[in-house]
Amino acid sequence: MVLDDLGSSLRGALDGLRGKSRISEEDVQAVVKEIQRSLLQADVDVDLVMDLSDSIETRALEEEPPAGTSARDWVLRIVYEELVELVGESTELPLEPQTIVLAGLQGSGKTTSAAKIAWWFSKKGLRPAVIQTDTWRPGAYEQAEEMAERAEVDFYGDPDEDDAVKIAREGLEATADADVQIVDTAGRHALEDGLIDELEDIESVADPDHNLLVLDAAIGQEAKEQASRFEGAVGIDGVVITKLDGTAKGGGALAAVNETDSTIAFLGTGETVKDVERFEPSGFISRLLG
Ligand code: GDP
Repeated sequence: MVLDDLGSSLRGALDGLRGKSRISEEDVQAVVKEIQRSLLQADVDVDLVMDLSDSIETRALEEEPPAGTSARDWVLRIVYEELVELVGESTELPLEPQTIVLAGLQGSGKTTSAAKIAWWFSKKGLRPAVIQTDTWRPGAYEQAEEMAERAEVDFYGDPDEDDAVKIAREGLEATADADVQIVDTAGRHALEDGLIDELEDIESVADPDHNLLVLDAAIGQEAKEQASRFEGAVGIDGVVITKLDGTAKGGGALAAVNETDSTIAFLGTGETVKDVERFEPSGFISRLLG
């Protein structure tokens, strides 16, 4: 981990260990306190922060640093390893034909993410298609069509059809030539039963390789409940965190990752189709702590 990426107060706390050969409880607590402050500010769930703190304290005080490793480097290594454990590895998405269903509440960024993910796969040499099944939100069809056009990927939708499951079925057939079929679903304002039922039906028609849950970086306490509902309905194996170009650092979404026992797949960093990054632990950790 590059030290410049750490917040200055955390760097200060680690510098307190400079030149020491033994690590005292106070030294570790000073470091842990700074990490806690940053993570809580980044909306990371308090229970996750406490678990991480306990792991860092226990390891730093009980494990023997390898010979030749300074106290400061040792604690830094433990901190980094535990932070990677917290945020997880990137969701595995092999570059091969697959079907992806996007789930999430309205406004979370599903339609935008569908086009972004399609664009990402197209840059990897695959042929993606976006299938728009959101019959609920006015303008969703036009928005999806326009974004798919900008991403230069195949698109299917039917603005005259109300039955989202039928659109999904027909869309999967119509885009059967595509390698990666990305099904965008309707999101509502809250976790209504209708939303969940429709999602379950689309999921059974699509039989996807991945169900990705799309979450706004600004999500807080609600992340856990949302994740558990979507997990219960279709099973979530990856999370997309959107709007990371704003002030929110996306730490709230980690509760959803924990709840669904999944990993983070993509990060959304702007409104255009190109504003997408594959999740990668060290960059995300720097963002959380910075
Ligand atoms: P949906 O209802 O879940 O399909 O959400 P949309 O894809 O329509 O996104 C809702 C709003 O958030 C739109 O105005 C998008 O332009 C915006 N949006 C989505 N992703 C991002 C992002 O990564 N950064 C920014 N700044 N805006 C985003």
